[in-house]
Amino acid sequence: MHHFTYRDNELFVENVAVQELVATYGTPLYIYSKATFQRHFTAFDSAFGALPHLTCYSVKACSNMHILRFLGKMGAGMDIVSGGELFRALRAGIQPAKIVYSGVGKTRTEILQALEAGILMFNVESMGELEKISEVANQTGHTANVALRINPDVDPHTHPYISTGLKENKFGLDMEQSYAAYMRAMELPAITPMGIDCHIGSQLTSLSPFREAVEKILLFREKLCSAGLCIDYIDLGGGLGIPYDTEEPPHPQEFGKLLTDMLSGLGITLILEPGRVIAGNAGILVTKVQYTKKTATKEFVIVDAAMNDLIRPSLYQSHHHIAEVSPRGRAKHTVDVVGPICESGDFLARDRLMPAVEPRELLAVFSAGAYGFTMSSQYNSRPRAAEVLVRGDTAHLIRRRETYEDLIAPEETRS
Ligand SMILES: *Cc1c(COP(=O)(O)O)cnc(C)c1O
Repeated sequence: MHHFTYRDNELFVENVAVQELVATYGTPLYIYSKATFQRHFTAFDSAFGALPHLTCYSVKACSNMHILRFLGKMGAGMDIVSGGELFRALRAGIQPAKIVYSGVGKTRTEILQALEAGILMFNVESMGELEKISEVANQTGHTANVALRINPDVDPHTHPYISTGLKENKFGLDMEQSYAAYMRAMELPAITPMGIDCHIGSQLTSLSPFREAVEKILLFREKLCSAGLCIDYIDLGGGLGIPYDTEEPPHPQEFGKLLTDMLSGLGITLILEPGRVIAGNAGILVTKVQYTKKTATKEFVIVDAAMNDLIRPSLYQSHHHIAEVSPRGRAKHTVDVVGPICESGDFLARDRLMPAVEPRELLAVFSAGAYGFTMSSQYNSRPRAAEVLVRGDTAHLIRRRETYEDLIAPEETRS
């Protein structure tokens, strides 16, 4: 079952026609399906049902408050990477004891905010951060639960910008440094070493890098235990991929089986931080064709969404399926789908076989739910798009379209 379907040559999100939503809310428009979000969360979370576990949705994938709230109600914890995401998670009613905090650059202020909130644990990414957390916690009368993010040096076979578990990446500590860091953590005041953390990359389409990482983590855990430090929490991060194009990533069920086979009976509580696999295919970006243009070598379809709305094609050369909202069976030809921004890197698709669309037609850019709106900007002074959440027969505006006034409001100083 999926919830972006054509009925009589009209694209629907659940039971609502995209045309109708555009008539009300305009373009560019992010549209999410609540049923799809829920189905993805349940499929993922239930795959680990045989293990003590906590599924911490990765807030940065799609961080709208309405989405965090209903995921929280379904039992999700949250994986955050900034003070701003902590603020969102708490406001959305997420229990602090279900929040884990990752990221290489946590500031003193952010650390204190997380300590005051009483989060489950910090995923610590450097020796300096470990010392800083200890200092802040000690000075303010808190105790910090920590996991050290180890970098297992496994190749996730994904785009270089989203691989994080290789030696050359900025994330985590290598195995030797990690061992020293755990030994240090045992001596530091106000620190409880509670977990081992790792996140090897994003958009993984095979399970073998996960298997390799878990094998290394389990050996490492034994080594720590021999040194008198027995760790109960293993956080495996996120990273499970989704089909954007022809990829065939493993089903969460297979991922669950792998980890259940490897971890059950060991007294381990597993933490997972899925983002893309929950949100990616739960959202589309709808855009209106403005112009078509032929040059000596190329044909362009110029649309009203741009790299400021969806940066993934420009940043990662990533593929997003693009289709007409109202298909008419026309012959296909090869075009570039580009936005109005003054950059040659502003494109949604290159050399794409598409029907000969015309100005004013609507196009749907699929798989835009994760790292879509959250990576958007106001570049070229373009107000950010609106976000709509569809649930069955109804649609809710969950973020209004920004206005020109929104663009300049923070600049209105009275000096
Ligand atoms: C981005 C991120 C995630 C989520 O990754 P997905 O590929 O979207 O599942 C999880 N954990 C950490 C630490 C991250 O940085």
